[in-house]
Amino acid sequence: MKYELVSGLETHVELSTKTKIFCGCTTRFGNEPNTNCCPVCIGLPGTLPRLNRAVVEYAIRAGLATHCTISPVAKMDRKNYVYPDLPKAYQISQYDKPLCQNGYIELSSGRKIRILRIHIEEDAGKLIHRRGDVYVDYNRGGVPLIEIVSEPDFRSVDEIREYLEQMQMIMRYIGVSDCKMQEGSLRCDVNISVRPEGSETFGTRTEIKNMNSFTNIAKAVAVEFERQVDLVESGEAVVQETRRYNDDTGMTEPMRGKEDAHDYRYFREPDLVTIRTDQKQVEEIKASLPELPDQKLKRYTADYGLSETDAMLLVKYHRIAAYFEQSIEGVKNPKTVANFMLGQVFRRLDTEAEKEACHIPIPPYYLRDLVLLLESGKIKNQLAKETLDRMLDTKKPASELIDESAMGELSDEQLEAACKKAVEGNPKAVADFLGGKEKAIKALIGPVMRETRGKADAQKAEALMVEMIRSGK
Ligand code: ADP
Ligand code: MG
Ligand code: ZN
Repeated sequence: MKYELVSGLETHVELSTKTKIFCGCTTRFGNEPNTNCCPVCIGLPGTLPRLNRAVVEYAIRAGLATHCTISPVAKMDRKNYVYPDLPKAYQISQYDKPLCQNGYIELSSGRKIRILRIHIEEDAGKLIHRRGDVYVDYNRGGVPLIEIVSEPDFRSVDEIREYLEQMQMIMRYIGVSDCKMQEGSLRCDVNISVRPEGSETFGTRTEIKNMNSFTNIAKAVAVEFERQVDLVESGEAVVQETRRYNDDTGMTEPMRGKEDAHDYRYFREPDLVTIRTDQKQVEEIKASLPELPDQKLKRYTADYGLSETDAMLLVKYHRIAAYFEQSIEGVKNPKTVANFMLGQVFRRLDTEAEKEACHIPIPPYYLRDLVLLLESGKIKNQLAKETLDRMLDTKKPASELIDESAMGELSDEQLEAACKKAVEGNPKAVADFLGGKEKAIKALIGPVMRETRGKADAQKAEALMVEMIRSGK
């Protein structure tokens, strides 16, 4: 029998507000352990939380960008459990009145992955295991999170990956999180079940906790899918439980039995007031959102004639997209700018992080000015390319790198002189050509281009040189 994967994601995104959710401590990552802490975020008795207004605003931005409805009334609840990373022995979260509900993310296939809810909550501290001892770093405790809960709409690992990539892109565009999986600012719990293909009912699910890399998610889903199929095939039941993925063994292993909501003894957080959001506020936040990646993608393909693939490469990194948009101002054909960026500029941005940071050594208007020179016919494509490389090397504008003599049209005399020099300087290629190797003529084009700073017409030069060689100059 064939089985189908059914999966739903609970995605935690750390918000990049300056301060924590209930106190004024910094959210900065990478500081000395337990230095970003105060009595509130280490849960000392007698302290009181105050909700950071920016957290609510960031979460509403995230909700609007994923087509959610914003609840006019929301509240905070206590989720009780005992663990050393949670000094109060409860986490302040949202239970039955989350801030955002009923959104979706649309995949490139057109399938919509429904979002059930987005709620705000505080992060816990971090446990560090070292030589059999366990240390706790409370710097992360009280850092604001949004939890985005999807419906069980995923049917393949590829859909999970695309959803997470889109989520990462959207959150970065709207500036609510840097979503760095390696730093834990984007992590997710993956719920998995299997069912016979064609079946309408869901199987029993397991939940794989705290995944923070695309590669591991793909591996974990694949092995967990197989494990469950094996169980079902052999007539055994899948046990509903929380599991973890062990990167060393490449297997998932049980962590604990599945808790239900009642295990957490949720109750309203009595120290915080109801969160009320009026429509006017929501409209204001909506108006302040930037153009989102899917809109940008449509515009780049429709208005600039870029292919879907090329457009996506630019849109994927919001700073690169902004750079591109600044570089095309006043340019006739934005596609030329796109080609330079995807070619020579991207060749120098090796890593995803470099692209994300938009590490381009020259300002956008340098690139624009170069393309304007090209479009006005003052320089040819070959020279433009060479110049761009030199601009990236030297951080100088095109005007400083191209001397006047290289601009404008090449006279017939100049072309002839350059061809003559190429023929005289390359006796071997000439001999090969005369010996019947017609292709040898191509070896002379490069020298002509170099001599004329790329201004020569390659076909014209070739014809001229063939004539020169055949007629013995
Ligand atoms: P909890 O908060 O206890 O983890 P929820 O009911 O909120 O439980 O569901 C959590 C996640 O599990 C959701 O993302 C949901 O889409 C997913 N889910 C629910 N049922 C299934 C299932 N049968 N198979 C796979 N995923 C599921
Ligand atoms: Mg869960
Ligand atoms: Zn604090």
